[in-house]
Amino acid sequence: MQIEDNKVAVINYTLTDEQGNVIDQSQDGSFAYLHGAHNIIPGLENALAGKQAEDKLQVTINPEDGYGTRDDNQIQAVPRDMFPADVEIQVGMQFHAETPDGMPVMVTVVSATEEHITVDGNHPLAGQTLNFDVEIVSVRDAEAGEIEHGHVHGAGGHDHG
Ligand code: ZN
Repeated sequence: MQIEDNKVAVINYTLTDEQGNVIDQSQDGSFAYLHGAHNIIPGLENALAGKQAEDKLQVTINPEDGYGTRDDNQIQAVPRDMFPADVEIQVGMQFHAETPDGMPVMVTVVSATEEHITVDGNHPLAGQTLNFDVEIVSVRDAEAGEIEHGHVHGAGGHDHG
């Protein structure tokens, strides 16, 4: 069975940066995604289309097909009192925030003074070329509920409990 829209694929992968440092990996068959539902970055999803169980591939993904290019407009200084008073703000901390049009975004603190906290709304991997080493473990048809929700249920996916 080939990977295509509305199939669930279990993959093992290792993600490395341009210097060969391992950024992320899942090698125990615990990562599953619903193909065609944008569960994973476009460059990886495109590379996996048409592959089947036991196939292996290496793919290099440009920022445009990964987590996007860096946008300096995403770096903003916000008043300290926008943050919880009882939390000591440190560089590298991450917070959930909202863009002006209400989209959820994760921001990373890049500097902090008593008056202002400067946060970066770029994805931590924005602007990076990514190397994926992937092995396809299995491919199956998605269930109707998975297609409806746009994600995998059960092993390797969401457990709604
Ligand atoms: Zn669901």
